[in-house]
Parts: sequence; structure tokens; C-alpha cells
Amino acid sequence: MADKKQNRRNNNRNNNMDEDYNPKFRKMRKKVCALCSDPNLVLDYKNADQLRKFVNEKGKILPRRATGACAKHQRDITVAVKRARHIAVLPYSEN
Ligand SMILES: [Zn+2]
Repeated sequence: MADKKQNRRNNNRNNNMDEDYNPKFRKMRKKVCALCSDPNLVLDYKNADQLRKFVNEKGKILPRRATGACAKHQRDITVAVKRARHIAVLPYSEN
């Protein structure tokens, strides 16, 4: 019982810079899907420069948490990148 109290006091001391800081639930701004917000932006599997924003330096497709795309558009991105790989516009892997 006494230990619990002591722990809480220690935690409070560690967190006194940011009252409710929790590394598990870091506050971050919600990303808006780039393809939803810009209706003129159309994914094209022949446009390597456009698709390069959705793959990392190894050529892997970035997850939704990185691209910020909605489920529907992440699916479109995935299909576009895979088509681009098939016609050798994008690499399957770098190195
Ligand atoms: Zn979207």
C-alpha cells in the first residue's frame, strides 16, 4: 500500500513537465486523406513520381498511418503501386 503511494508520487514527479503525458497515446494531429481532400488528384499507375510518395526508400508500400490515406484510397494506392511494379515503373525492391 505504501509502495503504491510512493510509486504514484514518483510518476507524478517524472511527468511534471506534461501533466497527462502517456507514450502509448501520444497526441497527434489527425491526418487528412490527401486523395479525399483534393478531388483533382487522381492516382495513375504510370506516374512514378506520384507513387514514390507512397513507398519507402526500399520500395515497400507505406502503411496508412504513414500515408494518412483513408481505407478506400489506401486500397487504390496499393493497387496502383502493384501495377506500377508490374510494368517496371516502380521497383519491387531497392538493393
Ligand atoms: Zn481518401
